[in-house]
Amino acid sequence: MNALYSFLVILYISIFSFIGILIINTKIAFSYSTSSSQKTFPKERPHNLKKLEESVNTIFNMVHKEGGKTVGNIKQTKLMKNETLHTMLLRINFDNDNIIKIISSIQMLSNSKDILKALPTGMRVSYSNNSKIIGGALKLSYNKTKDLFIWQNNDNNYNARIVFRPTRLKKTYTTGAIKSSFYNSAIEAGIPENTLFEMVKLLGFSVDFQRDIREGDTFEVLFSKQIDVLDDKVIDTMPIRYLSITLSGNKEKFFEFKDKDGYIRYYDEQGKSSRRTLMKTPINGARLSSRYGNRKHPILDYNKMHRGVDFSAPVGTPIFASGDGIIEKAGWNGSYGRYIRIRHNGAYKTAYAHLSGFNKNIKVGQRISQGKVIGYVGSSGRSTGPHLHYEVLLNNQQINPMKVKLPSGKNISKNDLNNFKTHINKIISDKIVLAKKNLTKTFADQKISHNNIKSYLN
Ligand SMILES: [Zn+2]
Repeated sequence: MNALYSFLVILYISIFSFIGILIINTKIAFSYSTSSSQKTFPKERPHNLKKLEESVNTIFNMVHKEGGKTVGNIKQTKLMKNETLHTMLLRINFDNDNIIKIISSIQMLSNSKDILKALPTGMRVSYSNNSKIIGGALKLSYNKTKDLFIWQNNDNNYNARIVFRPTRLKKTYTTGAIKSSFYNSAIEAGIPENTLFEMVKLLGFSVDFQRDIREGDTFEVLFSKQIDVLDDKVIDTMPIRYLSITLSGNKEKFFEFKDKDGYIRYYDEQGKSSRRTLMKTPINGARLSSRYGNRKHPILDYNKMHRGVDFSAPVGTPIFASGDGIIEKAGWNGSYGRYIRIRHNGAYKTAYAHLSGFNKNIKVGQRISQGKVIGYVGSSGRSTGPHLHYEVLLNNQQINPMKVKLPSGKNISKNDLNNFKTHINKIISDKIVLAKKNLTKTFADQKISHNNIKSYLN
């Protein structure tokens, strides 16, 4: 008994020392990123979901379960641009008689008008063409969480039914070291695009992605993925709960907390708002290519004051409104090309030039909120290549956007401080649980034998 006890103690110490070594090694050697997730759903699906999977995943199973004409070879297609259900059905060889029956079976559903009007381009469609003995059938994956099944019954009419695709949330904690660029490193770490978009917006208040980032800087992010239970694919992401970035040893943290109106805002550990009145970097995944100040003009070839900052980015990269405000101008503006100017308050304005296009909802006089996409990077006007020329104006005079010191958003009020502290403690403990799982996963991935562990410890 004693021997067993000592063995367990030694094993315990060994494993923790090993994890310790792993932690040290992670810092030195693991330039790649680790990510794993906390299962919020048992591995073995409950019986009712197993049934659901059988009944809703394929046309064959739906017909088998509900009765109808046996379906034939199931083919796949997608709804093309400018196609209606009718024209798509013609393309995939349904005749007019069947098309009318199919559409009228859908029209029997209560919300059919909304569904038929909003069928998305690229929608996945599985189908079986009807013949004398084979039943016609369709499965339209028209929504992230719903499928529409239509199948032929024995009297050659069609039934239509909507089924829900069950989803679950999976907590995810991802860390990474920044190599060449923040953007590429985050993509490499497997961060979904939506989440990366949120990260860039959050960091855009305080980080100058070109000047501030050094090789070896790190980030961590905690969020949840929405997973389709039937095919185990990520279909959506939930707002970031925690984000940190460590630049040259300085760690900046962002904790999510809902305000009274239910809006998610971000704060540091003390409850200070991370929101600034204007963003430093109002663009996703860009490289700062030209600073504010005197420079030789690349086209005019003489020294000229550069009254903004340039961010290089591919044509079509989204540009954010850097603060809340009103659109003052959106249109062609001489050498600026396609140009947007936003008035934020009595003193501050921002301007965005050389765009390839505007967000179609942007109109002069309209109110816009911070972080909304206003337009896309281009090279219109007097420009040598695709970039965003960004200006901050104080009393209608351009000033250096990187040097503007701006007041922050509302901090957590004294009354909410206790709730806030409890909330971020929960976030921190979730993070620790997931970080441990990531380590265990790394441990398993390494497939180190017991002997190797021993040699690690010696
Ligand atoms: Zn410029």
